[in-house]
Amino acid sequence: MTFEELGLKSGVLKSLKTLGFETPTPIQQEAIPHLLKEESDFVGLAQTGTGKTAAFGLPLVSKVEEGRKRPQGLVICPTRELCLQISKDIQNFSKDVDVNTVAVYGGTDIVRQIKEIKRGAQIIVATPGRLVDLTKRKAIVLREIDWVVLDEADEMLNMGFKEDIDHILDETPLERNVWLFSATMPKEVAEIAKNYMEQPLEVSIGHKNQTNENIEHIYFTVSDRDRYSAVKRLIDFNPNIYGLIFCRTRRETAAVAEKLGKEGYSAEPLHGDLSQAQRDQVMRRFRNKDIQILVATDVAARGIDVDDITHVINYNLPDEIENYTHRSGRTARAGKKGESMVLVTPRESYKIKAIEKKIRTEFTKGLIPNAKEICEIQLMKLVDNVITTPVKEDDIAEFLPIAMAEFEDFSKEEIIKKFVSAEFNRFIEYYERAGDLNAKDGRRDRDRGDKNERRGPRNDENKTRFFVNLGKRDGLNPGGLLRVICDSTGLKSNSIGRIDIMASFSFFEADNENVDRILSKVNGTEYEGNSVSIEVTKSANVKKKRGGGNSRPRSGNHRGGGGGKFKGKRERRAPRRRN
Ligand code: AMP
Repeated sequence: MTFEELGLKSGVLKSLKTLGFETPTPIQQEAIPHLLKEESDFVGLAQTGTGKTAAFGLPLVSKVEEGRKRPQGLVICPTRELCLQISKDIQNFSKDVDVNTVAVYGGTDIVRQIKEIKRGAQIIVATPGRLVDLTKRKAIVLREIDWVVLDEADEMLNMGFKEDIDHILDETPLERNVWLFSATMPKEVAEIAKNYMEQPLEVSIGHKNQTNENIEHIYFTVSDRDRYSAVKRLIDFNPNIYGLIFCRTRRETAAVAEKLGKEGYSAEPLHGDLSQAQRDQVMRRFRNKDIQILVATDVAARGIDVDDITHVINYNLPDEIENYTHRSGRTARAGKKGESMVLVTPRESYKIKAIEKKIRTEFTKGLIPNAKEICEIQLMKLVDNVITTPVKEDDIAEFLPIAMAEFEDFSKEEIIKKFVSAEFNRFIEYYERAGDLNAKDGRRDRDRGDKNERRGPRNDENKTRFFVNLGKRDGLNPGGLLRVICDSTGLKSNSIGRIDIMASFSFFEADNENVDRILSKVNGTEYEGNSVSIEVTKSANVKKKRGGGNSRPRSGNHRGGGGGKFKGKRERRAPRRRN
């Protein structure tokens, strides 16, 4: 097939000659003839590199009215970098026609952008927030728009732009056409298609077995007797976990859930020995986030369709490799990120290779976090809980004078030290005695070296952890932080790792290679009126300690470590009496 056969304007065809485009790529072959038609809503599942910019850019340039110098086509994309790239491509496609394209994005002078639009532009390439600002200033009239292209829709929703996109689509006329491009099709993206499009042509480019790129697969090598303790550490290390633990048998499922429950975790079992009513109830509670961790068998978990699951933990590997894909696919839904963790004994570690082949994705070698790492994360959680707990002035008024008198002679530093020690001493001691749970991994020694190794989700050698001066109180959320980073640096959200938003500060991780770029571009940007300041945190280089001890400390705060997100029993514990 040639470009001439697709029905593009002659001026556009001429530009393709200059660019050296000879044959249309598969997405272009599918999309262009359809998009050139009058009624042409479209959904394209395609990644960058498939030629998708030309797939929508060429028909758009062909369709806009050259003589009408007002915005007719909108291309909305997640980052400033992409915005510039797309507008440059579209300008190249329109060298031989009278079509102007203007790129508008946040973080630069809006007045200059308004002037450029006023000079006459048929196509606007925009990031969502800036586009909304421009429509508020009446620089772009959404009622006059004929085509809306949503590029990297999953990425935009991931970055928290849903409201802006809904607003834009609501304000454009009903007759306009929407052309949506996305690498994945989470529920949120499908909803946009459902709500705003009429029988779109759906085209998917890329092989079907492609796994969700948002899932990170990590394996931990432990001895069989340490499986349970290792799971506890992984949970402790991820206090906001909303997770699924997969076991192989009903008995094991029941036993793990019961043990976790007894030790104060918000965990419940889901397996075939429960009645349908019991299973429904457990699922309802899990969906409502009254339960933080569901321990399930493969069969019972079939069809669980819950968004937001942050972690899948494979207590044991499934007997059938196919089941691993089903298990891990429970996380990273709706464009979100997730981790699928696998516990293997040294003897089982060869199975990882078989799974890697099947899912065409490499695993990262993880290390079960040690005492200091877990204590640090739990301490952060405790401090955050204290900062965010509302003070009930009236209720505490009558007790306050006694407490105040007791603390009268202490400085602020002393009080903080005492309060941290009171909560943490036993906890720290427990973990110090608990030792290192990582077993030697024959596979790693043989054929992979340590380059992929990481301890828990943090301390990845390839990642750097940043401190951010803003937190929940400043209105920051993970999507907002991603937006700030990606917008200013042009990085994609999948190059940003773990994000921890605390009350008045936050942390995020990013690939080492991007550290300079992130420091120079993100520092000094604005988030909702606040200046963003970031710095690299010191990495925790921890000495391993040996020791025994398997029971969990009964620290009230530790048990309540789930933070404000979960409503389960970890939150509703009775006040603890002090000695
Ligand atoms: P994209 O997926 O839009 O980022 O495009 C990936 C790269 O392929 C860009 O450098 C395009 O300029 C180039 N490209 C797109 N379509 C074609 C084509 N039909 N022939 C040759 N190069 C193309």
